[in-house]
Amino acid sequence: MAPIGGTPKNKKGILERLDAGEIVIGDGGFVIALEKRGYVKAGPWTPEAALEHPEAVRQLHREFLRAGSNVLQTFTFYASDDKLENRGNYVADKHSGKKVNEAACDIAKEVAQEGDALVAGGVSQTPSYLSSKSEAEVKSIFRKQLEVFTKKNVDFLIAEYFEHVEEAVWAVETLKEAGVPVAATLCIGPEGDMHGILPGECAVKLVNAGASIVGVNCHFDPATSLKTLKLMKEGLAAAKLKAHLMSQPLAFHTPDCGKQGFIDLPEFPFALEPRILSRWDIHKYAREAYNLGVRYIGGCCGFEPYHIRAIAEELAPERGFLPQASEKHGSWGSELSMHTKPWVRARARKEYWENLLPASGRPYCPSLSKPDAWGVTKGDAELIQQKEATSEQQQKELFKRQKFKSSTVA
Ligand SMILES: [Zn+2]
Repeated sequence: MAPIGGTPKNKKGILERLDAGEIVIGDGGFVIALEKRGYVKAGPWTPEAALEHPEAVRQLHREFLRAGSNVLQTFTFYASDDKLENRGNYVADKHSGKKVNEAACDIAKEVAQEGDALVAGGVSQTPSYLSSKSEAEVKSIFRKQLEVFTKKNVDFLIAEYFEHVEEAVWAVETLKEAGVPVAATLCIGPEGDMHGILPGECAVKLVNAGASIVGVNCHFDPATSLKTLKLMKEGLAAAKLKAHLMSQPLAFHTPDCGKQGFIDLPEFPFALEPRILSRWDIHKYAREAYNLGVRYIGGCCGFEPYHIRAIAEELAPERGFLPQASEKHGSWGSELSMHTKPWVRARARKEYWENLLPASGRPYCPSLSKPDAWGVTKGDAELIQQKEATSEQQQKELFKRQKFKSSTVA
């Protein structure tokens, strides 16, 4: 059994760690977790929680750290000024975008000091890009967040959750201005970005823009995400480019997703629970990511601290230590030997959990859904964003258009 803890206060930089062949464990998804806990509103995914409920953001960081995360990402997803002012969420008037980003940095830095974690400042795709604003305008949006990250002296930067590689390249080029390492992840599947650029080519563009770490996050389950990463890896090899690989997939099963990923599923975002990966599914993901050569392994939406702990436990033999949270978790359920019921004690072994096919308990539900697939993307008039709240008339038109019958496969 590996010891608990690891090297204390190992504050090597992200590239030092990856260049040395270390496994870096990322953190999980904040917006979905905090929405369920009542601190974040779905839709705008309200990053102002860092100001309004700092204790909730701090606690989630702490749980990920305890579960084994080596990187704490600032809770700045969708915290660009244009997103904070989109469709009736007037955060700039209420707080200011700068204050939201500053608070997120302060909380992540405070918790990171309690362990061995680095802090990564993160930017994500913008409504400005969807509304076909110019490269200069989109870059100026990223630059506002970057000013805060630079002032707060974060360890490195992540451009994450981009559906269009063109915008991700703009983000990487902007983040590179800070002079710290930049990672970039797209929320794409094996079919490529929303403009049809294939994963291999996307990876090449990101590395050429200056990213040292590239990969995918969100939108697809681990199995699909690793297929995409394999294509990225092959693209980089063919172009004779070197970069570290990073995967931060969903903790939801999405075998029925189309190109747009889980946001096209009828269950998104309020009925995804039957799709959640078990901790044992995560063991499989961590091992497969490692075997593919991915060394920055984390998660996105759906990933709770226990999922991150499962990555750390699966890769404990390679890393030589277990996270703090494993104090309350034996290897492959071994703690069940303490249970009062003999049939539960019989489950205290790897063979049992590894081979279990968990039932959903929903006899009237289908196992797969039919994605919405409206097929609109940047360049379409329908994706032009607005500052004012969506009107009742605008909503009525959408209700009419929705082809909802049920989530059953036709
Ligand atoms: Zn996500």
